[in-house]
Formats: sequence, C-alpha cells, structure tokens
Amino acid sequence: MDLMKWMVRAHEENTKWQSSFPPFSPHPSMEVGDDAFAAAFHDLTERLGKNYPFFHPSYAGHMVRPPHFAATIGYLAAMLINPNNHAFDGGPATVEMEKEVVAQLSGMFGFQTPLGHLTTSGTIANLEALYVARELRPGQGVAFSEDAHFTHNRMCRVLGVESHAVRADRRGRIDVEALEKLLRTQQIGTVVLTAGTTGLGAVDPIHEVLALRERYDIRIHVDAAYGGFFTLLTGSDTAEALPPEPWQAISRCDSVVVDPHKHGLQPYGCGAVLFNDPDVDRFYAHDSPYTYCAPDEFNPGETSLECSRAGAAAAALWLTFQVLPPTPSGLGRVLGAGRRAALEWSARIASSGILELYQEPELDIVTYFPVVRPASMRLVDRTSAAMLESGATEADPVFLSTLKVRSDALVSRHPGITADASEARIIRSALMKPEFEDFIPHLHDRVEALAVSHTELR
Ligand SMILES: *Cc1c(COP(=O)(O)O)cnc(C)c1O
Repeated sequence: MDLMKWMVRAHEENTKWQSSFPPFSPHPSMEVGDDAFAAAFHDLTERLGKNYPFFHPSYAGHMVRPPHFAATIGYLAAMLINPNNHAFDGGPATVEMEKEVVAQLSGMFGFQTPLGHLTTSGTIANLEALYVARELRPGQGVAFSEDAHFTHNRMCRVLGVESHAVRADRRGRIDVEALEKLLRTQQIGTVVLTAGTTGLGAVDPIHEVLALRERYDIRIHVDAAYGGFFTLLTGSDTAEALPPEPWQAISRCDSVVVDPHKHGLQPYGCGAVLFNDPDVDRFYAHDSPYTYCAPDEFNPGETSLECSRAGAAAAALWLTFQVLPPTPSGLGRVLGAGRRAALEWSARIASSGILELYQEPELDIVTYFPVVRPASMRLVDRTSAAMLESGATEADPVFLSTLKVRSDALVSRHPGITADASEARIIRSALMKPEFEDFIPHLHDRVEALAVSHTELR
C-alpha cells in the first residue's frame, strides 16, 4: 500500500471538511517559520533513528512492532480532528466506531451482549475489570498465577484488595490443584487467568478453572492482553491451530481484556475491557456537570474509569477491522504466520546442539538459551546477556530480549542444569510479525552463530 498517497488523502479530506465551514484567520501565536521547523524536525528524526528496528524481522525481542498501514491512516485521519471518546459530543463519529469495534471484539470471544470499551492500555483495562470485581466481591481476595502480569499485584494494591499468587506448573500455566486448595479457604472472590502470559505465552487452563465455579462462588477474569487474538487460530485443523478448550471457555467468563496495540496491529494507546454481564455498568455511575450533553446517546465515559481517550484510536482500529477483521480469514492469517514461525523455529532449536528450548511455545513467543559447559545457571545467564548485547552490534544484527527465570522453574524443565544462582536470564523472542515465517532459517543461523561466538570465548 502507498502510505504517502493515503497520508496525503487524509490531509486533503480534512482540509475539504474544514473548508465547508466559514473561513477565519489563524492566530499569529501559532505560526512557526519553515526554517525553524525544519531544524527541529531534523533533530527529531535524528533522535528517532536511535530506535531498534522494530519493523524488521531481525528484531526478535520484545512485543513491539509498527502499526498496520490501515491503523496509521485511520489514526492520522481522525487525529487531524482529534475527537475525544469520553462522550458522544466529544467524538460523535468515533464513539460510534468504538461501539462497532467493541462489538467485533465481543463477538470474537463469544460474549452475548457487548458491554465494554477501549482503554489506553491493558493495564487500565485490567484495573477496570478488577475494580468491578472488587465492587461485586467486597472484602474478598483476588488469585492469579505467579506468572501473571505484574500489573495484577500492583492494581490489587491500588484497589486495596488482597492478592494471592498461585504456583505455575512446568508449562507456565496456573496450577489448578494449588488454586483449588486456595479456593477452599473461602478467601477468594475473583480468579484472574491469563490467556498468553507475557513471559512465555502460556495459556492458563481456563476451561478447568471454569469447571471449579460449580463448587466455588468465584468471578473469573481473563487477561488476554497479549494472547486474545490467538482465539482466531482455534477451530481449524492446520498445523498452527490451537487447542480450542481454553479459548472457547472465555465466552463463559465474567470479563476479558485484550490489547489491540499488541496483536491487533494498532499504535500504542489501545486496550479493551469487555464484560459478560451488562449490568456492571452501574459501578461506573456518576454525574458530571460539564460533559454528557447528549443524555440519550452512548457516552463511553459513563462506563469507563478513564475520561479523555483518543477517538483516533477507535478510528484506527475500526479502519483496520474493515480490511483485516478479527476473523480466522482476516487477522487470523497474520497471527497464523507468526505461530507457524514459532513452530518452525522451536523445531530447529530442539534439534540444535548449540541452543536449547526453554519450553515448547504455546503461541508465538519462543524461549531458549545457549548450551553451555559446565551447564550452570550462572553461565546460561551470562551468555544469554552477552548474546543480547553483541547481537545488536553485528554487521548483520539480531535484536533479542531476555527473560528472567527462577532456578526452580529452570531446573524443573532442565534437570541437568546446576542451580548455582537463584535466577538466570534466558532469551525470549516474541515473533509478532508474519514476516518471521520466511526469516526463521536466517534468524536461527544468526542466533546459533552468536551463541557459538560467546561459548568459544571461554
Ligand atoms: C502487556 C500485558 C499487560 C499490560 O498491558 P499494557 O497495554 O502494557 O498496559 C497485561 N497483561 C498481559 C498478559 C500483558 O501481556
């Protein structure tokens, strides 16, 4: 797609729309000379050049990638107007778009009534779900796996709710037996399950925990900030298909969070929280003397904790979903390629004598470490960190990220490794771009060569 053409078109359409109103003179205080601007712009682009190449498949580190073309154009076109999705009068067009994308996201998870809204982030989306949980289960605690995102522990502190970390099993999933033991104490009102942990991409057995609801009166919130869109890979018989049980179970949970700014190809500033019970909007009830002038319209600010939110974020997601809907044949194809890349790479690592898989990837996050002699945690840690550092400076660079793992977690998966430290860094690659599918053979060779260069130094 021709980004330049559509950026110009977005600007043209905005100008055309503006000129449908009576003319007025711009104020001189806002004027900036072209030379002054050129100098400042030069400095900006020079500084931006210090970024890692998130767009490139040699960047196989954190969960970062540029937005899809459609998201960029959608964001730009709306941002030139800068609507505020706090209330209908702040952004009458983008509030409608938000309603539509929320319905699409709800449909993706099989929620019957789409109550929910976009948020600025997964953090805020989870905070909202935990806030509603606290209102419905006053005085009761929240349980989540020790591998859950750190935000849950933090937000429980913000909300004044007691939190309980439950042991994770050898695949990084919540240990259901340990959870049930905790539920027997009657202290827990809400269980947070993760569909795609941030570290390993592990999917908690949501269906198994859901079955516990017959015996224990608990709310279940699913944090699918990272993994949510992978639900599109269930229900096919392809190599990259995922076991459907945990994903199908989400439809019967109480709330779910998904981050379109992770796997929904959006720029940052786009999370979403969805509720299964539409009556929870009563917990947001408040009156405002200065907003909500359109009492009969949908005002997202009446059902969200945040006030101002970018209408442009809704427009970006809306335009993206017009061309790549959250369906198996739309966005599912993008995620499928990343998943196939993860399968292909993990197979190569599994048969490599130079690298070792930390565990089989469940989604598109591959975790591994260099094979070192003697096989000790300290050496794994040092070599992984050195690979990360030198990989970025090579002529044909590779950009990786590390993951800190505890000795019990590492040794339970790899009993041959000596636990001479309490934790070690291993390597973690989130394969968030479909382009990885073709790039894996090269990436694998480069990472193997990096590992060899560091083990030979000793
Ligand atoms: C990224 C992530 C979060 C936090 O979301 P932000 O959008 O970074 O605020 C929460 N939970 C999980 C599982 C995540 O992957």
